Amino acid sequence: MNNCRGELCSPATQNVGRDALGTPPAKTKGRLFVLSGPSGVGKGTVWQEVLKLVPNIKVSVSATTRKPRSGDVEGVNYFFKSPEEFAEMIERGELLEWAVYNGNHYGTPIWAVEDMLASGTDVILEIDTQGALQVKAKMPEAILIFIAPPSFDALLERLKGRATESDEEIARRVAAAEAEMAVKGEYDHIVVNDDLQTAVREVEAIFNPTL
Ligand code: ADP
Ligand code: 5GP
Repeated sequence: MNNCRGELCSPATQNVGRDALGTPPAKTKGRLFVLSGPSGVGKGTVWQEVLKLVPNIKVSVSATTRKPRSGDVEGVNYFFKSPEEFAEMIERGELLEWAVYNGNHYGTPIWAVEDMLASGTDVILEIDTQGALQVKAKMPEAILIFIAPPSFDALLERLKGRATESDEEIARRVAAAEAEMAVKGEYDHIVVNDDLQTAVREVEAIFNPTL
């Protein structure tokens, strides 16, 4: 008597791509990219350009206790949280990594990233160097890209030109840049954002090594 039922009884030809137990092939996981670099170096500008060129890639939306800047949209630029709400996210294990940058907390919600990777979507985390090293420790397969400025003067000019922070905040961000530059050797790739289009092409080539 034939006791097979359902999927296990399927003719062999219907099992193409399945293993001996008839399990369907796992979806190829997405790749995790981490983009860091001093504030104002042009990380956001670079990834927005790269997103136009590379298919099937998304940027994770972080949580932060920093106050929204003009133009920041909840759920698009960040999930804006109170210090208490952020502490609860840490407590509940909801963050893949988190760090304090210039007195504010920033962190990557873990579930959205895991869902995107599981569905085969590549993911970019635009996070600071402290967070990047935490991600590398937890997920060694992550590909770390450091965006460096051509000079500190250029960085200062870009921060002033962006005009989103006070002079004091700009000074704090430039000071933080020194510590961030000191760990760039931990990254898999270093891209100097001097000419924007050159930097965009270099990052695109990291995402698409067949180019
Ligand atoms: P980040 O995300 O690293 O903080 P942004 O992407 O906001 O930096 O860029 C900071 C400022 O520098 C913006 O005004 C942006 O237009 C400018 N910028 C970015 N890349 C370049 C570049 N290659 N040359 C000159 N200015 C740039
Ligand atoms: P900003 O205040 O300019 O949006 O971000 C300040 C710094 O925080 C930048 O270096 C940015 O990359 C970093 N950052 C943004 N989101 C995260 C995050 O989820 N985790 C960590 N560790 N850093 C983040």
